[in-house]
Amino acid sequence: MNRLILAASAAALATPAVAQQSNPAAQRRGAPTIPAAVDPRVAALRDAALKDDVAYDIVEGLTTEVGPRLAGTEAEARARTWAAAKLKALGFKNVRIETYRMPTWVRGAESAEIVSPFPQKLVLAALGNSASTGPAGLTADVVVFPTFGDLARAPAGSLKGKIAYVGNTMMPTQDGSSYGAAGAARFSGPGIAAQKGAAAIVIRSIGTDTHRLPHTGVTNFPDGVAPIPAAALSVPDAELIERMATRGKPIRMKLILTPRQIGEQEGGNVIAEVPGTDPDAGIVLVGGHLDSWDQGTGAIDDASGVAITAAAAKRILDSGKRPRRTIRVVWFGAEEVGGFGGQDYARRHASEKHAAAAESDFGADRVWRVEMSLPESARAVGDRLASALAPLGIVRGPGGGGDGADIADTIKTGVAGIDLNQSGLRYFDVHHTPDDTLDRVDPEQLRQNVAAWTTMLAIVADAPEAIGSVTRP
Ligand code: ZN
Ligand code: ZN
Repeated sequence: MNRLILAASAAALATPAVAQQSNPAAQRRGAPTIPAAVDPRVAALRDAALKDDVAYDIVEGLTTEVGPRLAGTEAEARARTWAAAKLKALGFKNVRIETYRMPTWVRGAESAEIVSPFPQKLVLAALGNSASTGPAGLTADVVVFPTFGDLARAPAGSLKGKIAYVGNTMMPTQDGSSYGAAGAARFSGPGIAAQKGAAAIVIRSIGTDTHRLPHTGVTNFPDGVAPIPAAALSVPDAELIERMATRGKPIRMKLILTPRQIGEQEGGNVIAEVPGTDPDAGIVLVGGHLDSWDQGTGAIDDASGVAITAAAAKRILDSGKRPRRTIRVVWFGAEEVGGFGGQDYARRHASEKHAAAAESDFGADRVWRVEMSLPESARAVGDRLASALAPLGIVRGPGGGGDGADIADTIKTGVAGIDLNQSGLRYFDVHHTPDDTLDRVDPEQLRQNVAAWTTMLAIVADAPEAIGSVTRP
């Protein structure tokens, strides 16, 4: 049994009195193991949510009637209009759109081929914020770096006029931790290659599949560093380049990428509420992001997240009892390209008291773990939540909560965070690819998500305890 599972099983069984102690140690001592009681009303809401159809209806509608919705574009604006109409039709109160201005990047033509020693075409996609090669493209020698670390250690100026290639094999992990490790090649690789003089960079896709579909995603260049053309090769094409490199002959590549920065455009967040009875108790903020990459229809990233959180909030709305705290559902704009929606929300709502925030942005597969950062005054809330989630197959993790790019700036102000972690074992097979489409969503697993979020909202929004600010390490 690994450390996480050990800690989680002990936490699920711990009484409130011993929960503050080290759970693995308590388990070794054979400490009493009495879970917190589950309120029958919460259990009924949870179990009814396992038959939910609202979330699937939202994902189906958004992917069919809007489709791809790249941040800052007309497509994202259509998504906002669709979203506001949908949330009103579902019966939410105070439905509104809050807009802001944001820098906007759009894809152009993209193609690549090996010119020598073994001429053939490659499949790739430009990364967000990539510069253009111009329509005629550029042809240059490729310098192969098996890992991000190899690129980072290359001497200054050593890539002048070259195309850098970076490999970065990624394996699936349930908690998604391999994304952070492998993702450095995309997040920081282009900026580093540009600083070392590279003319362009191509990376192995940050993905766990073996299909010939590239995984796009945003990259950022440090201040003062001029962006260079940057793209992700499909995994089979990346492996092709690495095999060519073993032949020992220089590799020349022709690259055509013509994306554009089109200046400041309008973005926006769509907001809906289930009004609470106690305005002083703080808002429970939940949501996901409405924008998507432009190649798929953003079914798992993140139509599912907005759908799960709204469907759960609707169950509280329709439950016949107003919650103590207002539940605010936010479908954030522009997460993919830099989190502009989350930043605008935090700025605009800084004066409002938030009791807790939680985000769903990891696909549509089942929730397997709950992690919480709650203040001491709300310790019992966490214990009740862990007990009520256990029948859904959800374990209590040892870490804190509050992950998610859209809620990051709100969480930073000391707001309690709750993470309902979804399984990441399939997520990076289709993440940011043309394959992120409705057929990837498993309706049964989506329902389990709605049940978990409904349970969370039923407990946290209605908790009689104060949920004040938390101090994070
Ligand atoms: Zn996302
Ligand atoms: Zn994404």
